[in-house]
Amino acid sequence: MAKRFPANRIKTHRIYTVWEVSDALGCHKQTVGRWIRSGALAADMRKRPWLIDGRDLKAFLGQRVARLRCKLALHHCYCLGCKAPQEPDGRMADYVQQTTETGQLTGICPACGALMNKMVRRADLEAIRAKLEVTIQQASPRLVSLEDPRSNVTSTRERRTHGKTQQR
Ligand SMILES: [Zn+2]
Repeated sequence: MAKRFPANRIKTHRIYTVWEVSDALGCHKQTVGRWIRSGALAADMRKRPWLIDGRDLKAFLGQRVARLRCKLALHHCYCLGCKAPQEPDGRMADYVQQTTETGQLTGICPACGALMNKMVRRADLEAIRAKLEVTIQQASPRLVSLEDPRSNVTSTRERRTHGKTQQR
């Protein structure tokens, strides 16, 4: 059914164009374009050619494999370090809106401490928030200044400490 792509050919510290991605993975340019337009693969679409961060591409391919192997739970992220799905540490994650439909969920791997990213649909956010404490981060700096960031940080910390004592 779905094809496996050689993620090991992708370098983390490199920026790729759509054409370079299709060349490295041996897939069609349109396939890469579809991944980007669906919001599954993060890309800088501000100008042509679209640019893809090698790290995002690796994360996307890892998630894709995890999804093929076993369905990745909505509130789990794929950890590149552990090469396994993980629930974000402390059941906490950040969400940054990226398009009107999608955003990026970021959490910390409880096993190795690595940052885990996952593209999620805006429509799934409420279901994710039922499982995780998600802090919505505003992508635009102009919007951030409208809120008081201090109150947010304090409450997150308090809840984190509280959660830890309860768990351990
Ligand atoms: Zn890990």
